[in-house]
Amino acid sequence: MSVSKPAYNPLELTERVREFAIRIRPDGLEERRYYRFRGGLWYGGIATGDVVGCNLRCGFCWSWREASHRMSKGFLCKPDEVFRRLVSIAEKHKYKLVRLSGGEPTISKNHILRLLELFQNTDFTFILETNGILIGSDNDYAKELSQYSNLIVRVSIKGSSREEFHILTLADPVFFEYQLKALKNLVDAGLEPGRRVYPAVMLSFSTSETYENLKARLADIHPKLSREIDEEYVILYPHVVELLKSRGLNPKIAYKPEGIPVSMI
Ligand code: SF4
Repeated sequence: MSVSKPAYNPLELTERVREFAIRIRPDGLEERRYYRFRGGLWYGGIATGDVVGCNLRCGFCWSWREASHRMSKGFLCKPDEVFRRLVSIAEKHKYKLVRLSGGEPTISKNHILRLLELFQNTDFTFILETNGILIGSDNDYAKELSQYSNLIVRVSIKGSSREEFHILTLADPVFFEYQLKALKNLVDAGLEPGRRVYPAVMLSFSTSETYENLKARLADIHPKLSREIDEEYVILYPHVVELLKSRGLNPKIAYKPEGIPVSMI
């Protein structure tokens, strides 16, 4: 792979997305755009709110049409409304887990922190799925998240190197480092590595060499991070194949929606 396309700054994109995907109410509460709430069998059963808006533009993203590559779709929700909807789904299906997915939840920091506060005194575990860019750019973000004992943070790293990150996201390659910094900030803030914070890595486009290098870097942050990697591969839904083609991306390994592995090279 070679770095060839023009790069954007995800922090600048964050500000742009916030203009559309977030509304600050007169009482100071932060509303976030959502496009749906659902139950599902990921993690063995979890209630999910899918947020609209992301600060990356991954060329393999499953939610690109409805959420991540959009800014103004969906409907605005207050944190207490999100809480009620997630609890209602979780109780109906007897789930113990809740999460936000779709776009990038951390863009609406006050919304997330208020939501975590609401879940703090429940028996539910909140899984924060994030690309880590904002937690890597702001040391205080990890400290604030660390106050919530029922929180697990899954930092989803895009590729195994700066170059792969750029090819996959079109963002400035330096922001690959922010994803690793997010893990460091979260570990430094006191989240137990491997249990309350762990990395996921999109590996469909990686080489064994770049992956081994990444594992060594994760081990430098904390040995448990390199042992508890959630390995991610592209699922070839038709709309994902459409996006991959438009971006000229060819996964080395991918999965059919039925779960059958496909070797592409
Ligand atoms: S960071 Fe996640 S939600 Fe955002 S575009 Fe990439 S895969 Fe999609």
